Amino acid sequence: MDFLPLFHSLQGRLALVVGGGEVALRKARLLADAGARLRVVAPQIHIELRHLVEQGGGELLERDYQDGDQPGCALIIAATDDEPLNAEVSRAANARGIPVNVVDAPALCSVIFPAIVDRSPLVVAVSSGGDAPVLARLIRAKLETWIPSTYGQLAGLASRFRHRVKELLPDLQQRRVFWENLFQGEIAERVLAGRPAEAERLLEERLAGGLAHIATGEVYLVGAGPGDPDLLTFRALRLMQQADVVLYDRLVAPSILELCRRDAERLYVGKRRAEHAVPQDRINRLLVELASQGKRVLRLKGGDPFIFGRGGEEIDELAAHGIPFQVVPGITAASGCAAYAGIPLTHRDHAQSVRFVTGHLKDGTTDLPWQDLVAPGQTLVFYMGLVGLPVICEQLVAHGRSAQTPAALIQQGTTAQQRVFTGTLENLPQLVAEHEVHAPTLVIVGEAVQLRDKLAWFEGAREDA
Ligand code: SAH
Repeated sequence: MDFLPLFHSLQGRLALVVGGGEVALRKARLLADAGARLRVVAPQIHIELRHLVEQGGGELLERDYQDGDQPGCALIIAATDDEPLNAEVSRAANARGIPVNVVDAPALCSVIFPAIVDRSPLVVAVSSGGDAPVLARLIRAKLETWIPSTYGQLAGLASRFRHRVKELLPDLQQRRVFWENLFQGEIAERVLAGRPAEAERLLEERLAGGLAHIATGEVYLVGAGPGDPDLLTFRALRLMQQADVVLYDRLVAPSILELCRRDAERLYVGKRRAEHAVPQDRINRLLVELASQGKRVLRLKGGDPFIFGRGGEEIDELAAHGIPFQVVPGITAASGCAAYAGIPLTHRDHAQSVRFVTGHLKDGTTDLPWQDLVAPGQTLVFYMGLVGLPVICEQLVAHGRSAQTPAALIQQGTTAQQRVFTGTLENLPQLVAEHEVHAPTLVIVGEAVQLRDKLAWFEGAREDA
């Protein structure tokens, strides 16, 4: 970092502007906006600059600059087209330890002006350290469109209530939760919708109520999708970036976990098949405990939380304890893997329905309603089907599905490690052994699998069989 960004208080303090033209005027306006008293020195002074100085009760010195103009100033700007003079102003300011800015001459500056988005009291400053001012301005333009103009009012509201909230919530963590909720909740929505008085009334009501209920935590049950971070939803990402604690399991890819708030606590709760690092009831209890401490808890699950994710059980416990929660759907492995393997799950000619089936039942067996699964015109997608695969293939054939029915194995679908193997119900278990296929793997069975020959597009690990 070549420059340390700091915000400079100039309220009521004297700022010297050397120069009387358009450029000086632009800088002088900024200084006046920040509450500075202006001393402008130049043989000729632009009419608007003159007005600005007069309005603010500043000093107009219509003559050449003199060294004696500097003392008592908190900031000095040189904005003339006389290079030696600019250099002289800079040298003298540096000798006195007064911050100085020379327009368009970064080498002579001890302070530089950033590009600014002003939503006072909220101010965003962007700087390239003088190296690429156009880039800084482009970024500023993006921020201008991204930060609603009413954000300033929101910050103003926060500033008016800051001390009261601090008294009511002495605990820092609780206060942070309070403000984050406020800036993203219904009060903020009203300000942004142009109803600030209503927002203020609502906040008053909350404060009168003692805030206790606001400081309770909440749980976000979020689907992280099948692996590729690009498949996250906007809401998932937003909640990932505001949660205080993250509970995740094996299915969540490290590249996704990286997108969580940097200082969030991360708890691994495991779940390898037959190796439950933290038993499900313990996870359920942990969610309740953490949220009761006022934390915003992110329960991050692979795929979709409501598809073979036991998400229902987790929020059941939360509901029983009156803990607020929200559920964010994710792209389930069936959609993600099928898309990235080029296998449409339905197709007018081959499959009029699709069925998601678990290959691993609660009692550890693979005892499925086989008769239903052999009906023609349907694609079957087996989750957790690897261990029971020989039984699955055998039973489907035994109940009438052709041994030549196309079938696919998709390991680590949607990631750079994706491997896809296609075969038939007859040879699928053999492919697993031959290619050392391991979890997480999805099994797709049905005529639509053959479309992969034409529709495959994603390369993955290029180990296709
Ligand atoms: N809730 C998850 C499923 C959890 S069950 C979802 O909606 O996707 C775990 C099973 O999902 C795994 O055994 C595997 O069959 C499947 N699975 C999840 N992610 C996968 C991936 N990226 N590639 C292949 N299979 C996956």
